[in-house]
Order: sequence, then structure tokens, then C-alpha cells
Amino acid sequence: MKRILVTGGAGFIGSHLCERLLKEGNEVISLDNYFTGRKTNIVHLMDNNYFEVIRHDVTQPFFIEVDEIYNLACPASPVHYQYNPIKTVKTSVMGAINMLGLAKRIKAKILQASTSEVYGDPKVHPQREDYWGHVNPIGPRSCYDEGKRVAETLFMSYHQQNDVRIKIIRIFNTYGPRMHPNDGRVVSNFIVQALKNDDITIYGDGSQTRSFQYVDDLVEGMIKMMATGDEFLGPVNIGNPGEFTIKELADMVIDLTGSRSKIVYKPLPQDDPLQRCPDISLAKEKLNWEPKIKLETGLKKTIEYFDNLLKNS
Ligand code: NAD
Ligand code: UDP
Repeated sequence: MKRILVTGGAGFIGSHLCERLLKEGNEVISLDNYFTGRKTNIVHLMDNNYFEVIRHDVTQPFFIEVDEIYNLACPASPVHYQYNPIKTVKTSVMGAINMLGLAKRIKAKILQASTSEVYGDPKVHPQREDYWGHVNPIGPRSCYDEGKRVAETLFMSYHQQNDVRIKIIRIFNTYGPRMHPNDGRVVSNFIVQALKNDDITIYGDGSQTRSFQYVDDLVEGMIKMMATGDEFLGPVNIGNPGEFTIKELADMVIDLTGSRSKIVYKPLPQDDPLQRCPDISLAKEKLNWEPKIKLETGLKKTIEYFDNLLKNS
């Protein structure tokens, strides 16, 4: 049995990760300040004696004895990370410093949840790990993108300078049950709008693309990455290479929900990336991992979750 710390453990991805790590027989500690996470995401795990919950902000130092750390604490949706950009940078940068300092002291392995946003609005398609990206350092998304880029720098520096055992994954758009219904991301927005028969809001003309990964596939990739030997640090892309336009996603959600919603078009936010799709050759080679869940299958599960949530609210 390993003792594992998950920062951001009450968030969408963190809660699925905690659940899976507990299922595998580990002792799990969730650390979260509940900025975007919710206790309802983890309440079903509370009966497990090997699960512990701590309210803490990663911008403050924290001490604990664990074998592994998954560092997920950071708001992920543009609406939330732009709400307080300074805090977003602090969470990424000071959070990384605090967790790396802890990993150094206790000799734990530490995995960073980085993002496809480090590629910005990419000029290379699909994105490989050796592409350095095209990021606006002063735009509305920069607090998140640059914060995550500095976090990667810190991870590499702690490894090079202090031999900290690090792992970096770059997560592409992930969806599934327990996304926050109001977090503004496209999958949750479209599903909630469709279930309420409200207008579906496409930003821009809907021709921009994203690659959507179901959360279970991501969690499998995270665990496989953590299990790799010390020589493989990443960064490695973890995403689903199936690429869809936002208009295709809207049509699919309307179809799967049988909704009467109409599509309306709103202005495209500044610096919204036009294309995004991971090259996952490295993950296939090093982790023997690839996503298994098709968009339609994952959307059905997510629709069922939001349907229950809306009926019970
Ligand atoms: P989320 O907002 O649901 O989860 C983030 C969690 O971190 C929340 O529980 C929040 O309360 C917590 N948190 C935020 N600031 C904190 C702080 N200062 N101290 C302690 N806890 C704090 O988002 P998510 O989709 O689950 O994302 C989890 C991680 O994965 C994030 O680091 C995000 O950048 C990364 N990621 C997610 C996606 C995606 O598509 N969902 C894509 C790329 C990267
Ligand atoms: N988007 C949209 N309607 C919405 C929410 C998002 O058309 O109600 C678009 C958004 O402009 C972007 C894409 O969907 O082009 C994905 O947005 P999301 O916020 O989910 O993630 P990110 O832009 O960070 O990939």
C-alpha cells in the first residue's frame, strides 16, 4: 500500500483519481481549498478509512509524509482561471514550489498535471511534445498558460538541481461526470444547455477544433505515467486524438439528448486556440497507453450524470 497525496482532489479530475487510487488499495489524501472543487465530488469516498480530506491552499507550505504526489490544484476552466488571474499564477507557481519542496524533503515521486495550453494557439498540428508552443504572454489566457509553463520549468529545475523524481503530463481537453455545471467549459455548457432546451452557445463560427478525452482514459494514463521508471520524466501528451469542430460537438450533444435547443453564435474570446489535437506516439511508446472511450460513449455517460444532477437540484 502506498500513501498518495492528490492536490485538487475535490475537483473534477482529482475526485476520479482519488477514487481509482483507493480502489487499487492505496491510502489517499485529498488536499483542496474548494475554489472550484466540491465536497459532493468526494463524499462517496468518505466511508473509506484509507481516505483523508484536508482543506488547504497550495500557495501555502504543507508538510506530510507520502510516497507519491499528484499535483492537480489549479482552476482549469477559462471562466474560473480568469476570475482572479493573479491567484491563478500563484496557485500554479507557488503551488509547484511548495509541492516540489515537499517532494524533495520526503523523497516522494511527484507528477504535474500540465496542459495542452502550454502549446497556446499552436502553429504545429497535431501537437508533439517537442513543439515549444505559441503563447501570448499578456493575453487573457496567459495567467493559466504561462503559470503552467513556469510550473513545468520548476519541475525540470528541481529534478536537475535536486534529483527530485518528477513526471510531467500535458492533459488535453477532458470531460466526464463531476465537471462543474457552471464552469463554462464547452462540454458541460452544451450538455446543460441541451438538457434545459436552452440555446446552445457556440463562440465564433464553430470551426475551431478540440480533441475530447473521457476522464477514465486520462486517469489510466496518469497512473501509468506515475509507474514509469525514474529515467522517463515526460512531458508526455495525454489526450484523445479524435478531433472535432465545436459545431460537430454541438450537433452531437443535441442529437444524443434529443433536445429542442437552437444553436446561437457568440463572439470568439480573444486568443481562443483554433486547432488542438495531441500526437500521442510518445504515450503509446513509453506508457503503452491510448484512449479507449469514443466521444459518443463518453458523452452519453456525461449526459446521464448532468440529467440526474439537474433533476435533483
Ligand atoms: P477543477 O477546477 O475541477 O479542479 C481543480 C481543483 O483544484 C479544484 O478542486 C479546486 O478547488 C482546487 N484548487 C484550485 N486552486 C487551489 C489552491 N490554491 N489550493 C488548493 N486547491 C486548489 O479542474 P480539473 O478539470 O479537475 O483540472 C485538474 C487539473 O488538471 C488542473 O491542474 C488543470 O490545469 C489540469 N488540466 C485539466 C484539463 C481538463 O480538460 N479538465 C486539461 C488540462 C489540464
Ligand atoms: N466554447 C463554445 N461555447 C461554450 C463554451 C466554449 O463555443 O459555451 C468554445 C470555446 O470558445 C473554445 C472551445 O469551445 O473554442 C473549448 O472551450 P473550453 O472552455 O471547453 O476549453 P479550452 O478553450 O480551454 O480548450
